[in-house]
Amino acid sequence: MNLRKVKQIMWGIFGAMALSLLIAALTDSVIFVVLGTILLLVFIGFNFSMWRCPYCGEYLGRDTKNFCPSCGHELEDLKEDTK
Ligand SMILES: [Zn+2]
Repeated sequence: MNLRKVKQIMWGIFGAMALSLLIAALTDSVIFVVLGTILLLVFIGFNFSMWRCPYCGEYLGRDTKNFCPSCGHELEDLKEDTK
């Protein structure tokens, strides 16, 4: 999968999680606490399994932009982001 797509999906899950927790805080709704927790776990799992260098397979850090911190390979997918 394209790293840009991975990033978009990660932000989507993160946004849904933040929204769920916000609703949970505002309404004292247990359902949204559970939903927010599930989304957090999905986010961590997705991040850990998909947010990896396509060349060496190492996990990419949070601030990774144009180059893999592990093998130094250029990450073409992410480059377009900085336009
Ligand atoms: Zn790498």
